[in-house]
Amino acid sequence: MTRRFDGDRLVVATHNRGKLEEIAKLLEPFAVTVLSAADFGLPEPAETETTFAGNARIKAHAAAKATGLVALADDSGLEIDALGGAPGVYTADWAETPEGRDFVMAMTRVWAELETISAPEPRRARFRCTLVLAWPDGHDEVFEGAIEGRVTWPMRGDQGHGYDPIFQPEGYEQTFAEMDRWQKNEMSHRGRAFQKMVAAAFA
Ligand code: IMP
Repeated sequence: MTRRFDGDRLVVATHNRGKLEEIAKLLEPFAVTVLSAADFGLPEPAETETTFAGNARIKAHAAAKATGLVALADDSGLEIDALGGAPGVYTADWAETPEGRDFVMAMTRVWAELETISAPEPRRARFRCTLVLAWPDGHDEVFEGAIEGRVTWPMRGDQGHGYDPIFQPEGYEQTFAEMDRWQKNEMSHRGRAFQKMVAAAFA
């Protein structure tokens, strides 16, 4: 049985303000004070695993251990079938430059690799998200969400973040970057993983 969250403070193991805002909004109905890893000055641990769950576990357990509070971490990425599931757990790495993250560069690389192999349309892909809720005693609970879609080109839309301008979810004409942020969150991989977590551990 899923262990329930019964505290009043939760540490979110992220230094990303956007993720923190999204999570705080999703947890608004539950009277939980949401704190961030940055509030505690926690370092960002190296993501050395080869799965989303493995990397989310590293982040959640490190934060739970350092703070003595229940911690929540997420790890996510884009899997493209024609690229054998790449970039997958390396989704963020494809955007890394010495000056910071460059997602136009990362999206251009996706498109170039698909063109190089003449991948047929539709170029099926999915976003995946794994959430890990970790307790200071070492227990954890894992929740997963995915959304199927396709990679499109050229980039469209200026909302959202990351690879949103080239991801079109199944059944929609818009890319994630052309959708309102909260509409996207209702259906996204992260939204779906959240719904599972809230139903099992918070409601
Ligand atoms: P993480 O922060 O290590 O989980 O890295 C996830 C990577 O996947 C980042 O580069 C994000 O930009 C990308 N990503 C995850 N979710 C989304 C999304 O909803 N839209 C666009 N990109 C995403």
